[in-house]
Amino acid sequence: MALTGMDIYKLLPKKNCKECGFPTCLAFAMKLAQGAVEAGKCPYISDDAKARLSEATAPPMRTVKFGAGDKCYNLGGETVLFRHEKTFVNRPRFAVLFSDAMSEEEIQGKIARMNKVNYVRINEEMYVEIAALKCESGNKDTFLSLIKKVKDGCKKAVPMIITSDPEIARAAVEECKESGPILFGADEQNCEAMVELAKQHGLLLGVTAPDQEKLYNLVQKIQNLGYRELLLSTESGTLKQTFDDVVNIRRTALLSQDRTLGYPTLVFVNKLSKDKMMQLAMATLFVEKYASVIVLDDIDYSLALPLFALRQNIYTDPQRPMKVEQGLYKIGSADENSPLLVTVDFALTYFIVSGEVERSKIPSWMLIPDAGGYSVLTAWASGKLSGKSIAKAVKDFAVEEKLKTREIVIPGKVAVLKADIEDELPGWKVVVGPDEAALLPKFLRDYADK
Ligand code: SF4
Repeated sequence: MALTGMDIYKLLPKKNCKECGFPTCLAFAMKLAQGAVEAGKCPYISDDAKARLSEATAPPMRTVKFGAGDKCYNLGGETVLFRHEKTFVNRPRFAVLFSDAMSEEEIQGKIARMNKVNYVRINEEMYVEIAALKCESGNKDTFLSLIKKVKDGCKKAVPMIITSDPEIARAAVEECKESGPILFGADEQNCEAMVELAKQHGLLLGVTAPDQEKLYNLVQKIQNLGYRELLLSTESGTLKQTFDDVVNIRRTALLSQDRTLGYPTLVFVNKLSKDKMMQLAMATLFVEKYASVIVLDDIDYSLALPLFALRQNIYTDPQRPMKVEQGLYKIGSADENSPLLVTVDFALTYFIVSGEVERSKIPSWMLIPDAGGYSVLTAWASGKLSGKSIAKAVKDFAVEEKLKTREIVIPGKVAVLKADIEDELPGWKVVVGPDEAALLPKFLRDYADK
C-alpha cells in the first residue's frame, strides 16, 4: 500500500532545516507522498528510511529495460491510465515472430521485409525493434541456427527468445547475450531456472500464465525469488479476454497501487488472428491500451505505416505541441539565389513539407516563424501565422543578409496573407505555392525553371 504524507513524516528526521528545499519536514513529506520529489533530497534521512520510502514512493508500474548500446529500450513506467491526464512515457515496441519450424524461404522472406521497413517520421526512425524467436522444434541446434540467421540478417532488432525449456534458453542466451535479449517463457513449472538465468545475465524476463489469477501468484513467487525485471503475458487465446487481462493488469497497478502487477505487458497478436489486417486492427487496439510489446506474424509498409504513426501520436505529450525550432533551414545545397519557402513550426507539417522539398531535388530554404506549433490553417485562424510573424522571422533570422532572393513562397491555403506580407516586407514579392505539400516537387521544378 502507498504511504500517506503522515506515514512518511514519521520516517523523516524532523529537523525542519530546509536543506531539502522545503520549509518543513511535513511539507517535504507531503511532496514525497505525491511522488513529486525523491527521498534522497533530505541529507539526514537514515538508510533504512530511505530504502522504505524509495520502495513506497516509486511509481506503481516498474520501468524495465531490454537491448544493448544504442538499441536499448525502456518499457512500462506509466503513471496514468489516460493520455489526456498526463502523458504516456515508454512507447510499445513491435516484434515479428520467427519460428525454428519455418522454412528457410520463410525466414529469409521475413528478414528481408523487416529490413525493408525503415523510414523517418517526424525525426524518429521507424523500424521493428524486436525479433521474436520461438523454439517449436524442441531441438537446441535447430533453434540456435534460427537465432544465428536472424541475428545476422536483422541487425537492428533485439532478439526475444521464446522457450519454456531452461536448457535451450541457456544456450540461446549464450548465442545472443551481447544484444540484451528478452527471455520469454517463465511459467509455473520452470520459473526457478528461468529466474536464475535472467538474473545471471540481467535480462528482461517474460512471464506467462493461463489467466490473471495464476499470473498474479506466479509474479509473487518470482518476486520472492528476488527478481523484478518482468514482462507479463496471459495465454487466454481470445481477443476479449486478452484485452480484459491487459487493461486489468494496468488498472490493478495504477488504481489499486498493487505492485505485483506493476509491470509492462506483452501481447501475441499473431495468436489472436492469422488474418494480416485483423492483426493490424488488434495491434492498434493494444497500442492504445496497454501492451508494451506487440508480436505480429510479419511486417510490411501496409502494417508499419499506420502502426508506427499511431504509436508516435499516442506517445507524445498532449500538453506540448510537437514543434520544430523556428529558423531558416537549408535543404540540399541551397545558395543565396535558391527558392525560399515559408511554413509553420508544427513538426508534422515541417517534416512533410521538407520531405517534399527534398524529393523535388531543388535546393531550397525553409523559413519557420513562430506559429505556436499549429498546422497552417490553425495557425492562420488563431492569428499566429500572419504577415507580421513572417516578416519578424525574415528579420530575426537575417534572411536579407543571407539570401539575394526577395521572393517568398507561402502555402496555398493561406494565399490570403499575400498582401499582408508584402505590406510588412517592402520590396518583397510573395508567390502563392500549392495547397498540398505533395504538389511541391512539381511546383518547385517549374518555379526554378522560370
Ligand atoms: Fe526535514 Fe530533511 Fe528537509 Fe531538513 S532536509 S527539512 S530534515 S526533510
